[in-house]
Amino acid sequence: MTTPGPALVYKCPSCGNLAQKGSINSGNTFGAVFYSDGRLDAPMLPEFPAITKCKKCSGFYWLEDENKVGEYEPYERWGGPSEENEAAKKQWQDADRTRFLNPDELQEAINARAHRDDPKKEKYLRKRLWWQLNDPARRKDAAKVLPNITVQYAENCHGLLMLFIPRGVVPSDDDRMFVAELCRNMELYDECAAVLGTVKDPDYEPVIGILKTQCEKRNRHVVVLQDDSRGR
Ligand SMILES: [Zn+2]
Repeated sequence: MTTPGPALVYKCPSCGNLAQKGSINSGNTFGAVFYSDGRLDAPMLPEFPAITKCKKCSGFYWLEDENKVGEYEPYERWGGPSEENEAAKKQWQDADRTRFLNPDELQEAINARAHRDDPKKEKYLRKRLWWQLNDPARRKDAAKVLPNITVQYAENCHGLLMLFIPRGVVPSDDDRMFVAELCRNMELYDECAAVLGTVKDPDYEPVIGILKTQCEKRNRHVVVLQDDSRGR
């Protein structure tokens, strides 16, 4: 079961406008759908944004401790309301709700180097952009699936590849799986198969089989790896 956590309140470092996001104390992958690009649609494991665009000044900022001003419990707990929580709730419950960036905003944030040369943050931005650009194929929305790989898509995949295989570091099997999928998404089927051939973890065998079949079919689009959504 999913249990909600506190509402977390942040302050835009540029203009001071407040924004809040939810959190969870616990969740699980019951009824989830797993995709080849690493995206997970899990109704019992809601995700909250890590970066947002300020509604007041349009600046990007990270929803992390350095910008956090407080938190409150939006739902009543066992034992009834506490005075402290009621005061915090009153102060912050009307703050703007944070939302996920759309593809244009993610691209804008990457171009503006909102990640400030932090590879983890750049990976976050590029992965979300990759996932969102894969969404038409993921949703099987044929009218929106572009016939060719766009410059934006290719540039973002290259950027991600550089982040998954940093110079002088031996990539983990997890990272190799991402590299293989990025290659396949860019129609580099031989490279994809070659990278899959270097993954040692036997747990990946079923996924490797699926991706190799897609390479043989010359399909570059994201595919479902596992669908537990029936009976949701
Ligand atoms: Zn602002």
